[in-house]
Amino acid sequence: MAYAIRVHKTGGPEALQYEEVSVGAPGAGEVKLKQHAIGLNYIDVYLRTGLYPQPTSPFIPGMEGAGEVIAVGSGVTDLKVGDRVSYAGPAGGYATERLIAADRVVKMPDGIDYKTAAAMMLQGMTVRYLVRKTYKVGPGTVCLWHAAAGGVGLIASQWVKHLGGTLIGTAGGPEKCKLALANGAAHCIDYKSENFVERVKQITGGKLCDVVYDSIGKDTFPASLDCLKPLGLFVTFGNASGPIEAMNPGILAAKGSLYMTRPSLAAYTSSRADLVETANDLFDVVSKGAVKIQVNHTYALKDAAQAHRDLEARKTTGSIVLLP
Ligand code: NDP
Repeated sequence: MAYAIRVHKTGGPEALQYEEVSVGAPGAGEVKLKQHAIGLNYIDVYLRTGLYPQPTSPFIPGMEGAGEVIAVGSGVTDLKVGDRVSYAGPAGGYATERLIAADRVVKMPDGIDYKTAAAMMLQGMTVRYLVRKTYKVGPGTVCLWHAAAGGVGLIASQWVKHLGGTLIGTAGGPEKCKLALANGAAHCIDYKSENFVERVKQITGGKLCDVVYDSIGKDTFPASLDCLKPLGLFVTFGNASGPIEAMNPGILAAKGSLYMTRPSLAAYTSSRADLVETANDLFDVVSKGAVKIQVNHTYALKDAAQAHRDLEARKTTGSIVLLP
């Protein structure tokens, strides 16, 4: 018997319905997984609300998981029953069992457990492309990273430090700031009580940042642009407070010939080679302890709605995992 959380009609957390489902056998190029842990990410909220429309109805949300291969479809040669694998996308993760294209999963290193793998694939590979590809962070790089105590944020705080860069974090409240600082952020601004633009000016002695990583969207735009040096890069990669409204590109000229990009993990891992390179780099920093994955919240799969409520209410820090 397999179970999944399905969304029949997009909306609030109550749209997440725990139901019995029939999974079937894997088709050509697919494997069937028994999932041991499922990662919960902010993108799951966008799927649930309909901000990111899904092609089918009902659909199963969830972009991340880890488990064992229990059946292999035709044409799959590099995976066998019993292999431990993890993935970040496509959707369909909130389930005890699922089918997935074999070329979208990677084998897990022996030293990494299912819960950690499920917590790190999406957030960790995101940080990897953001700090190694979108902008090459290295010694001397100064970046501003919003929501530094969140799932993506805690991984970023550690990874930027590991690369020799300086991360100025923002977080909602003193406790969250303490956590970001303990994880490698050089500074943390409580943007609930402080003006983050003024604080960035103070911290950098007026030099400002090379790059701003902004996953908050509406609430931090356009102020985030004022934290950049001329020719700096604005990376808008999420919408936790709602999407940025239509903007006039002239604002980029007015604020110093800025660059702006709106990247996605899917684009940076669309080829098998890019996926494997990104995952291996993540496994490497985690295996050697440079980045520690913090699963600060676990819920039963059937309680996914409560996990969404807590995430949206800004009650969580680090990564969240659902257990089937
Ligand atoms: P987080 O754990 O970071 O949770 C979101 C955090 O955003 C909250 O904890 C809160 O932190 C902050 N926040 C600020 N304003 C709001 C608001 N109005 N409502 C809710 N939260 C708010 O989530 P994830 O680590 O899963 O994801 C972080 C961001 O990265 C998301 O926006 C996500 O969409 C994006 N993302 C983008 C990817 C891409 O490739 N483009 C891939 C993966 C994630 P605080 O209280 O400290 O402000």
